[in-house]
Amino acid sequence: MVTTTRPATRRDTPARWATALVRAQAESITVIQHSTSGIFFATSAGSLDLYRVRWYDCECAAGRSGDPVCKHRAAFREHCREDDRPCRPDAGRFRPHLR
Ligand SMILES: [Zn+2]
Repeated sequence: MVTTTRPATRRDTPARWATALVRAQAESITVIQHSTSGIFFATSAGSLDLYRVRWYDCECAAGRSGDPVCKHRAAFREHCREDDRPCRPDAGRFRPHLR
């Protein structure tokens, strides 16, 4: 019998979110919002790339591979929490082909 469970390292746990937030802060991941569209982006630690980020997904490599936790989303969630911004769960999920 074949099981399809996620590896323990790719689970959505409070500990992983805490670690992701520490990494985001250590790497100065910044969340910005496009003034016209309202879309949120997170900066990349190692390049000038921006990743579109939402409450439930991120377009970074981890997000695209199905990892439920990444440092960009951790930064985004913290960004939303800080000022009680209206950026909690938005409509739909990220669809790379619909940019
Ligand atoms: Zn990400």
